[in-house]
Amino acid sequence: MQITILGAGYVGLVSAACFAEFGHKVVCIDKDAARVAALQKGEIPIFEPGLDELVARNIANGTLRFDTALPPALKQSDAVFIAVGTPARRGDGYADLTYVYGAVEEVAQNLSRYTVIITKSTVPVGTGREIERRMRAANPKAEFDVCSNPEFLREGSAINDFMRPDRVVIGCESERAAALMKALYRPLYLIETPMVMTGLETAELIKYAANAFLATKITFINEIADLCEKTGADVQIVAKGIGLDGRIGRKFLHAGPGYGGSCFPKDTLALARTGQDKGAPLRLVETTIAVNEQRKKNMAQRIINACGGSVKGKTIAILGLTFKPNTDDMRDSVSLDVVPDLQDEGAIIHAYDPAGMKEAKTLLQNVHWCNGPYDAMQGADAVAILTEWNEFRALDLAQMLAALKQPILVDLRNIYQPEDMIAAGFRYVSIGRGD
Ligand code: NAD
Repeated sequence: MQITILGAGYVGLVSAACFAEFGHKVVCIDKDAARVAALQKGEIPIFEPGLDELVARNIANGTLRFDTALPPALKQSDAVFIAVGTPARRGDGYADLTYVYGAVEEVAQNLSRYTVIITKSTVPVGTGREIERRMRAANPKAEFDVCSNPEFLREGSAINDFMRPDRVVIGCESERAAALMKALYRPLYLIETPMVMTGLETAELIKYAANAFLATKITFINEIADLCEKTGADVQIVAKGIGLDGRIGRKFLHAGPGYGGSCFPKDTLALARTGQDKGAPLRLVETTIAVNEQRKKNMAQRIINACGGSVKGKTIAILGLTFKPNTDDMRDSVSLDVVPDLQDEGAIIHAYDPAGMKEAKTLLQNVHWCNGPYDAMQGADAVAILTEWNEFRALDLAQMLAALKQPILVDLRNIYQPEDMIAAGFRYVSIGRGD
């Protein structure tokens, strides 16, 4: 099959490479000419483990190519995926659908044969219908169907998530389109991946409900962590104790500094807006958003408290800037709250991240950028771990103590054991463990 994918970001690029690996002929289009030029040379603009190899192999096979121009690719396509960004609209939190409708407009102008138009972008319930309406208005003769096929991949393990997903959700209402979608995902049928075939609205809502549920689960354990700190309980063991109940499950029960990233913050906001507009307010989701925002704001204070109540003139080493490990994505990362808040209190920031520094340099000012964790800790008054990169899981404690001016470690990801750190001579602060 011939597929066009609009958008060569985290989702578009991974989807393009994986569909090519399934054996389809894929053209991936992006408006960003520099990005496309780099991709044509085999340079990957994002950090995603394994993606460089997959892209290179499929370019070499002739199953994958990149372009800035849509019309030639679209002419030969059976399906076109929209995988452009849907960020939160500044000011009101609604999903900004400018890029989606911009892409639809281009598709409408250039469609010349039956094509299935698929939203892989996360779009609010009702968007698929609106795409149908806009398509018909712009090109009344066009032959097409609209499908919703939300993506559930996680940055950092995106290829495996795409190739071996827990499920594939397909919202479409024509048999012709459903048959095409099944053919596209045939390799996943062969490994018995559950397929949820449903209507447009249901598919769109599944994606938001999944992300809102996960964000709520994280926020729940974060509040339990606060209570653990007041009562002497240990949140790690509470999480294990409840997570072993099959109805609850152990995943997404890691207490931390609050969720960030390119999806949960904007998707919870957009879902809350939909609920309000439709007269079915989602009060749990609204509260989750508020609690998480406040939590991210509280994290700098935690570091200040660990430093004895003031960071004025003190050097703080920050390990990890991205919203999670194995990505260079900085969108809504907790570091974007913590670093400026510490700077406002007079701290000097030494920071290091294994993959996120290029992007971080465009978002954070007046930071001393370091070459590694020990470089960041050299002469610092305290160190804070913000992202649980593997590189930070097995730091040499003696080397840390030698580098730091004060042996203060604030571990916002609970990657060390309090008793080990205290025995090694640290003043150790983590989340929800009464230390
Ligand atoms: P991204 O910002 O990394 O990539 C979007 C790309 O689309 C950009 O490169 C941009 O230049 C390009 N673009 C914009 N308009 C275009 C047009 N008309 N034609 C061609 N290209 C165009 O975004 P992302 O993180 O890949 O997210 C894309 C969508 O997938 C969002 O709706 C997001 O919510 C959803 N999603 C993301 C993830 C994730 O982990 N990042 C996971 C699941 C779903």
